[in-house]
Amino acid sequence: MSLLDALYQEAVLEHYKRPRNRGVLEPHDVAEEGVNPSCGDEVTLYLRFEGERLAGVSFEGEGCAISQATASLMTQAVKGRTTAEALALSERFREMLHGAEPDAALGDLAVMRGVSQLPARVKCAALPFATLERALERRG
Ligand code: ZN
Repeated sequence: MSLLDALYQEAVLEHYKRPRNRGVLEPHDVAEEGVNPSCGDEVTLYLRFEGERLAGVSFEGEGCAISQATASLMTQAVKGRTTAEALALSERFREMLHGAEPDAALGDLAVMRGVSQLPARVKCAALPFATLERALERRG
């Protein structure tokens, strides 16, 4: 394992052990639950909007380190963004999970780049963003 891989792995574990924005957000406008049956991961997202902007984002969940760390990183990344920006970020993240080079817009989410080498775990990392996309669609 390269030093860079080790650093990425450390960042993933750090978010898993000390998740950011974890818990029920009160008040929230949308709550959306997502499940990844292949691993047993669960994520529930809570979103609060101010106009088009995601003013508040939190999550609850359980599952593997990759799913929960991605949820933690994602809440940090999309908080304060517009719906359109969050969807664009989700698209970039999906491309990275399928092997694209992470671009700068992904920020800390780039620590998940190694997941593209682990096909069985792609759904774990994809779960939080898939749940976010459904939540944003439901809000309309
Ligand atoms: Zn998982």
